[in-house]
Amino acid sequence: MTAIGFIGLGNMGGPMAANLAKAGHDVAGFDLVAASCEAARTNRIAIATDALECVRDRDIVVTMLPAGRHVCAVHREIVPAMKRGALLIDCSTIDVASARDVHALAEAAKLCSLDAPVSGGVAGATAATLTFMAGGSDAAFATAEPVLAAMGKRAVHCGPGGAGQAAKICNNMLLGISMIGACEAFALASKLGLDAQKLFDVVSTSSGSCWSVNTYCPVPGIGPKSPADNGYKPGFAAALMLKDLKLAQEAAEDVQAATPLGAAACALYEAMVESGDSERDFSAMLPRLMRAARET
Ligand code: NAD
Repeated sequence: MTAIGFIGLGNMGGPMAANLAKAGHDVAGFDLVAASCEAARTNRIAIATDALECVRDRDIVVTMLPAGRHVCAVHREIVPAMKRGALLIDCSTIDVASARDVHALAEAAKLCSLDAPVSGGVAGATAATLTFMAGGSDAAFATAEPVLAAMGKRAVHCGPGGAGQAAKICNNMLLGISMIGACEAFALASKLGLDAQKLFDVVSTSSGSCWSVNTYCPVPGIGPKSPADNGYKPGFAAALMLKDLKLAQEAAEDVQAATPLGAAACALYEAMVESGDSERDFSAMLPRLMRAARET
């Protein structure tokens, strides 16, 4: 049993902390939102009065917060209060530069640290089937592994501090591009009078196959069940996809990498979010392209 502090008990952090408690760990939790704390309490998480109480005497502290600015602010507050030699794991999706900053902060205070963003969404957080992409030292990863195993099915050590965030935004940039590609193909097929099921039967077993078609098809009634079969209820909301595509563009600018399709995907999801579709699943790009096709 490990003494764990968990800060950020929202859509992802709530079920992740619950799985740690279910695995027999002693979990203290904290969130700014009282309702999230109450929900966590029913999952055997001891609610702390503030972030400092949540981390005191804990062997491992996990943060699951909205963005880089929240992570930097919370880590600046908690790092001086953490036990020397303890491990600080940030599972939020944040920019690579902030991830490296908080690693430096932890190292200066003689703490171990890991950036470990996740893939798998709320369903994966609930079912403890997340994939973790980790950045940090071998020692930090080895200490984290049993704890990550209670929240997910796979953890990949991607390299030094920041490498987990780099892997996460590269993966999600590719996902955004491939989903738009899948939607474009189905929208074009429709204009050409080609049946969507026939296109799925061909693509899903041909060189165009990809997760966005085979597993998460954006066309209702085609392929395995996906948000398209549920009125495009997320799943993975367009607003979250836009956040990750923006992080990828920021990182690409920092290192002067050419990501023309990443930039185009970012612009298309920005338009989707601005038109009021931010809370629809990101595969709802399909009805937008179908409408655009009808209008031309
Ligand atoms: P969320 O908004 O539901 O949860 C974040 C929580 O952090 C909130 O409950 C908020 O009150 C809390 N918080 C903010 N500032 C705080 C502070 N100073 N102290 C204590 N608590 C504080 O967001 P989420 O969906 O759980 O996502 C969390 C992270 O995981 C984000 O970085 C997101 O990009 C990433 N992520 C989300 C998904 C998803 O499908 N939701 C999938 C993969 C990764």
